[in-house]
Amino acid sequence: MTTAAQQFSHAAAAKATDLRHRAIIQKNIASYDIGVARGKDRFADWPNARSRAAAIKFETINHLDRYLEQFERNVLANGGHVHWAEDAEQARQIVLTLARQHGVRKVVKAKSMTTEEIHLNPALEAAGIQPVETDLGEYICQLRNEPPYHIVTPVMHLSKADVAELFHEKFGAALDAPAEELTMVARRQLRQDFLTADMGITGANFLIADTGMIALTTNEGNGRLSVSLPRIHVAIAGIEKLIPRLSDLGLFWPVLCTSGTGQALTSYSTLVGGPRRDGEVDGPAEFHVILLDNGRTKLLANPEMRDVLHCIRCGACLNTCPVYKTIGGHTYATTYQGPIGSVLTPRLRGAAEWSHLSFASSLCGSCTDVCPVRIDLHHHLLHNRRDAIASKFDHPLQRLAFKLWLWVVQSPARYAVAGKLARLGLRLGLGNSFAKPWTATRDLPAPPRQSFRDWWEKVGQASRLSDVKPPTGGTPVQHHP
Ligand code: SF4
Repeated sequence: MTTAAQQFSHAAAAKATDLRHRAIIQKNIASYDIGVARGKDRFADWPNARSRAAAIKFETINHLDRYLEQFERNVLANGGHVHWAEDAEQARQIVLTLARQHGVRKVVKAKSMTTEEIHLNPALEAAGIQPVETDLGEYICQLRNEPPYHIVTPVMHLSKADVAELFHEKFGAALDAPAEELTMVARRQLRQDFLTADMGITGANFLIADTGMIALTTNEGNGRLSVSLPRIHVAIAGIEKLIPRLSDLGLFWPVLCTSGTGQALTSYSTLVGGPRRDGEVDGPAEFHVILLDNGRTKLLANPEMRDVLHCIRCGACLNTCPVYKTIGGHTYATTYQGPIGSVLTPRLRGAAEWSHLSFASSLCGSCTDVCPVRIDLHHHLLHNRRDAIASKFDHPLQRLAFKLWLWVVQSPARYAVAGKLARLGLRLGLGNSFAKPWTATRDLPAPPRQSFRDWWEKVGQASRLSDVKPPTGGTPVQHHP
């Protein structure tokens, strides 16, 4: 097992029995679910909106070269600059070079998972530049010195009391302060940072090819302030964030907001079309867009996996995933968590180290059901598993166990003998040794007195099925922390 797989396994086992964590996540996702159900009702035809969004992304990704060039031409025509970054290191160096050229000491950042992906904050700090996260959730993460728990809601794992405790410790806020007061505490701190920052860094929810604009959606207006107050604005986005036309936003903004937060639209929808022009009173003197590859063209070259690039990072697949809800976002130890993270990470960061994530799924298909751009997520998990096995990135014992299982189930006689042996072992109490770590947090049910096969033989002798009672003797599984 790789180090990442071992850490994942230990962290998952611990989090799965953390009942406080479970209660907070269930509460937060329950209110998200209500919003999403309402949001979908606002569409005349939600399934059709998903199909339309999927079709536009399909068209865009399959002509990405053309749309990227169109986007670049239009950014340049608007007075902006475009930089191409092959990997995370190149992207970091572009930012650091720009920062050095302009004597930047402080950066305000709007929420951006792409900057998490390239580990920008540690690089800025190492260069003596102070990065300040301005999205409230990201700001809380930064104060706690931990990565985002979720790609849309970075502190979904915290309660209001947790935040009050943090703000009490950092800023002296009252422990019983209401949520509004806590947000005002953050606002007072961040206003000073907005006014004194030299550079604003954002992601881009969408890159718009036919206008060279970027679209940002936030609930706090921090994206708009990060763009308009500092002297330089740098937007960092994966190359897959393109949509062809400005008019496509009429579909993509509500689809993203509905799936992301259950809102019709977030409170602030911002379009950035270049640097400040003559006669304008605000806006940056320079506007730079960094287009990041970092493994995306490898996905593009793979017809089977290409639709993963349709992702608009709404987080819906995380919110519906029973595994994510049980083990939590930090357990994945990746930038992108949940089903999309388990599909993407082995492809972007290397299958040898990260294939275990594709096995951490029940394959229930709920992620595919909710994805607003209809990515076939659970089949992609299977594709990753298939490739991991072919490359021998799975555990040798796992392969041996499946070979043994195949040998047993290929013969009814062997299957019957195996069943009898298993029931005997359970009755002798061997289950607790063999079924660890399952039995560390659960009671093992007592085995039934007879197998289904034995029961069925009796049914065959019975004149009416309804006269026969099903096998008894087992006990329901009891879970305990
Ligand atoms: S894969 Fe689909 S559901 Fe998951 S984050 Fe991306 S767009 Fe949203």
